Amino acid sequence: MNVRRALAGLVACSLLAGSPAASAGGSPIQSADLRDWLTYIASDELGGRATFSAGLGLAAGYLQSRLAEWGVSPGGDHGGYLQTVTVQGVQTTSRSSVTVRVGKNSRTFRDGQGVTFPREMGGPRTVTLDRVQFAGYGLDAPGIGHNDFRDSDVAGAAVVYLGEKGPKAIEAARARRVLASRSRHVLDQLRGAATIGPASERPRRDREANPSSRPSSRPLVDFTSAQRLDRPVPPAVTVDDAFYEFLFSATPVRYADLKRKAAAQEPLPVFLLAEVSLTFNIDVDYTVVRVQRTQNVVAVVPGSDPALRDSYVAFGAHYDHVGYAEREPAPDGGGAPGRVTSTARHDRIWNGADDDGSGTVALLALAKAFASADVKPRRSLLFVWHAGEERGLWGSRYFTDRPTVPIDQIVAQLNIDMIGRNRNDDPAQSNTVYLVGSDRISSELHQVNRAANASLPRPLTLDYEMNDPSDLEQLYYRSDHYSYAAKGVPVIFFTTGLHPDYHANTDDVSRIEFDKMTRITQLVYETGARLANLDHPPVRDHRGPRAGKGTRE
Ligand SMILES: [Zn+2]
Repeated sequence: MNVRRALAGLVACSLLAGSPAASAGGSPIQSADLRDWLTYIASDELGGRATFSAGLGLAAGYLQSRLAEWGVSPGGDHGGYLQTVTVQGVQTTSRSSVTVRVGKNSRTFRDGQGVTFPREMGGPRTVTLDRVQFAGYGLDAPGIGHNDFRDSDVAGAAVVYLGEKGPKAIEAARARRVLASRSRHVLDQLRGAATIGPASERPRRDREANPSSRPSSRPLVDFTSAQRLDRPVPPAVTVDDAFYEFLFSATPVRYADLKRKAAAQEPLPVFLLAEVSLTFNIDVDYTVVRVQRTQNVVAVVPGSDPALRDSYVAFGAHYDHVGYAEREPAPDGGGAPGRVTSTARHDRIWNGADDDGSGTVALLALAKAFASADVKPRRSLLFVWHAGEERGLWGSRYFTDRPTVPIDQIVAQLNIDMIGRNRNDDPAQSNTVYLVGSDRISSELHQVNRAANASLPRPLTLDYEMNDPSDLEQLYYRSDHYSYAAKGVPVIFFTTGLHPDYHANTDDVSRIEFDKMTRITQLVYETGARLANLDHPPVRDHRGPRAGKGTRE
């Protein structure tokens, strides 16, 4: 799983349509297989599987050998299992601007002069938005009983918000994280068309791009990306007082009052800005100054139904981790790629057995089980082991921008990242798996998964706590399923949650709960088999993260 970055009525037929293919003749997922494969994948020989390292190449070779042995078809470039992922370091030259029209007056703010665009702002285009909503603090935080979007649908609107500290009810310790996720929540979950936030929210320069940034000179690259630079990206700008003042110049409420209230954390009004429109003119040149390459591993089990086999159920995991320390880490952990556990100071390899060795071998087990089944599901099954997840979801971002099968033919994506432990090492969690995202795009997908679980000999406890949009960890955005969800593909993210060895040098095979991991893999198998046998793709009804029943069984 990705470390938090700077921010950071279902019809009965669908329940019946998927036959419980997994259960016949005993379980196709074998715990002994998982242990065997993970013992190699998380061994010191692979050196922590950092992206661009020989260890990751060894892992890719191992996956390919197993897939070939079982007769799973290659699904990568040139008829092979590998898809090359190109990672670009980019310099941005921006001439972008926003023109604000208030009644008969208008004013244009240029990037860097009252308004700041992100360095990666998508391809050149002009977007005019006539609906501009002031959303107070811009927060949807049920945990503190605060929702600035209760009475307004902001889909397709520009959303303006204020406040560096948020409302009084927000705990100071949580405020920065919650506030920093405002823009993404509006654009991604509420389907807003643009966000205008305070300058305090300006992202720091890309640390990935400039590991030793030289503040006085032009950075070598402005950002690093595995995505198409010409894709449309909704504008998310930060603005200064002068911009806000002009924006509010015709409203009955003065900006100075709003600003004072926000600074005092007092309640803020919510209203539509009458006769205001915004025109974003995105005018940008990107210069690629650095190119690096890594590989996804891609395989396919063809479906049995000629009418459905051109559509796919996708299964994903990431096979990279964070690598090793070349020198003894400093006492404060400096020079290490992750955390150093105090009882293991001299272990220099971050083996990533749970993160995401567990998903890597679970995916192998799924491929083996489907490939050796006597009766294949109707749809085809796509398996992608993503590279570069730990560096910023690179492999999945690349794959979903340049998929090896048409992305609109992927009916669902099931992502597995860290399924080998108990959350916080709590033994009471031994039957629990956390599901994130299952109801957000398709509530039918959510129901198929629940029915699959109910059909297992020992159903798991399905916990949706981490799917709530106000959950601080924001896991929905932190693993590869998000790259698919961002393209409209319904997803489920399966995880057993964080624990003390997360991104530490003690995430080792000896600490994996193989029985639990086997059962979760069976749940993914059963869910995937049902989806692959459905006569229609799961309906994309976009009912959002609270459509699912409850947060807990
Ligand atoms: Zn991770």
